[in-house]
Amino acid sequence: MAKKQFKAESKKLLDMMINSIYTHKEIFLREIISNASDAIDKLCYLSLTDENVGMERGDFKIRIDVDKEKRLITVSDNGIGMTKEELEQNLGVIARSGSLRFKDGLEEDEQENAAIDIIGQFGVGFYSSFMVSDEVTVITKAYGSDQAYKWVSTGTDGYTITETEKEKVGTDVIMHIKEDADGEKYSTYLENWKIMMLVRKYSDYVRWPIVMDVEHNELVETGETDENGKPKTKMENTWVEETINSMVPIWQRSRQEATDEECIEFYKDKYKDNDDPLAVIRVNAEGLISYRAMLFIPSKTPQSYYTRESEPGLELYSSGVMIMDKCTDLLPDCYAFCRGVVDAPDLSLNISRETLQHDRQLKLIASNLGKKVKAELKKLMKNDREKYEKFYKNFGQVMRLGVISEYGEKVDEIKDLLLYNVSEEKMVSLQEYVDAMPAEQEKIYYACGDNMKRLMSLPQTEQLRQKGYDILYMFSQYDEYFVDTMKSYADKPFCNIAVEDLGLETEEQKQETEKQQEEAKDLLAFVKETLGDAIERAQLSHKLVSGAVCLSTEGGVTLEMERYFRAMPGTPEHFRAIRILEFNGNHPAYLAMKEAFEAGDKERAADIAKILHCQALLIAGEPLDDPAAYTELVCKFI
Ligand code: ADP
Repeated sequence: MAKKQFKAESKKLLDMMINSIYTHKEIFLREIISNASDAIDKLCYLSLTDENVGMERGDFKIRIDVDKEKRLITVSDNGIGMTKEELEQNLGVIARSGSLRFKDGLEEDEQENAAIDIIGQFGVGFYSSFMVSDEVTVITKAYGSDQAYKWVSTGTDGYTITETEKEKVGTDVIMHIKEDADGEKYSTYLENWKIMMLVRKYSDYVRWPIVMDVEHNELVETGETDENGKPKTKMENTWVEETINSMVPIWQRSRQEATDEECIEFYKDKYKDNDDPLAVIRVNAEGLISYRAMLFIPSKTPQSYYTRESEPGLELYSSGVMIMDKCTDLLPDCYAFCRGVVDAPDLSLNISRETLQHDRQLKLIASNLGKKVKAELKKLMKNDREKYEKFYKNFGQVMRLGVISEYGEKVDEIKDLLLYNVSEEKMVSLQEYVDAMPAEQEKIYYACGDNMKRLMSLPQTEQLRQKGYDILYMFSQYDEYFVDTMKSYADKPFCNIAVEDLGLETEEQKQETEKQQEEAKDLLAFVKETLGDAIERAQLSHKLVSGAVCLSTEGGVTLEMERYFRAMPGTPEHFRAIRILEFNGNHPAYLAMKEAFEAGDKERAADIAKILHCQALLIAGEPLDDPAAYTELVCKFI
């Protein structure tokens, strides 16, 4: 029978993996067991609705057999099995996720490291068996099929699939363990104690019993009696099938039974993350609804962020049976970065996805878990600032986005968790900002944009800085919306420095500006006439210290919003910020314009107005309609 070849890229990866110096070869058993457990999950799930399965929950198990002489380890399960097509599809291609592609162009040793990473992160689980085996045989019979199949491979040179006999539904994975070589003692894997150790280490929480024949030395009667008439006994070796994993899922255990370290190990293994999570949150709730939950806040965005693997949602179990693997109704959207498990025994197993969504119980759980996550994050913010800022860099945006997707209702939920830059290095929370405000400061000043340097050099900032007031620099397009929704924090109103009156003038100053404004009426009208629709009007400003001009806006739409919405298809043409051009009445440039205007040199006055308008646009980060015309004008003056 002709051997089928692995897909070319699979072959390359397989080769690298088998020959890699990967030190954690022992994980092969975990991978095979976890596949067996998944297969049982599937059949068990089916048995809830399909009577023909004919199996009870207690019937399912994973069995490990070791034959030292023949150097065989067999892992058998009575799960769902595989059809011929599934065998071909599942075991003929490695890493279907396309994870291989990212390795192109890497050096040889980098490739090897990448292969190791892949073992950790992607679905090459089954193939890890080739790290310790020189031949792997899979005998499987799918549920609902009469025919069993045998898949055999010695590694990179391909595989065969033939028909075979198998009485019951399920899968046997038979690994022929390599001979010892190059300091690698593969033979240890054929020792019972080693297998038991590996199961406890890696597969202890597998929900199904992992059984194995365990040797016992027993005192048995020989049937004879000694000189005193007592029955004679001798030591005899007996083999008894025992369950070697403790099964109780880690989230079902108390803090005494499962330490934080164990939870962290569980997280790293389950979510394929090499880094410890930032926090482990354990909940044991009793009351209106009882449930246990174990949540993790990852320390970084997972590499596989855009794959199904990292779609948001928690696993939902009811008494150890998984109901849904990505249930997004268990946490407010703003905490979608959390991973973990919720086990609620009271939920009905047959509940459908649709009804789940509207389930009151789930809403209750989500609200409680949201509180826990928030409390944990606040604690982190206070006690381990560095960690929190790292978290914020990774997930701050997910948090904001989550709030937006719930129509702003949840801004209050995260307002204490937000951080903003007040300088290039320093970030503060809103509370910290308010706490640091000088006594006379009345508003929370902020500026929105995408470029810190530009925001910091806005002419409007000068006056604030002189007074020793901090400015919050906001870079996410959602922040402006948040501020709009919140209106104030700790009773201090927000003030967008690019839009609003900074509120720093005294009564006298106000009157003075009004007077100046009145005097400059004709000039300002002339500027408006010169610039036309580009601005709503021109006015004198009291915001500016050494700058000559700035652009501010009026009404609900700011320049930031205009930029954001205009980048989206379908935004109507007339969606525009109302622009006000503000002049510093004491600035030489303004005075030069005034002089020309008063002397009747309208052309010169118009040129200066145009240049100042362009400068205001540039400072505000807006593109110029006609940059060439601007440079020509400037040259004219030079
Ligand atoms: P992963 O488990 O990450 O998907 P694997 O390479 O370990 O990747 O397995 C590939 C696929 O082969 C599995 O997704 C599953 O569909 C199938 N498979 C492996 N082992 C078994 C088994 N014991 N019973 C049924 N299907 C299995």
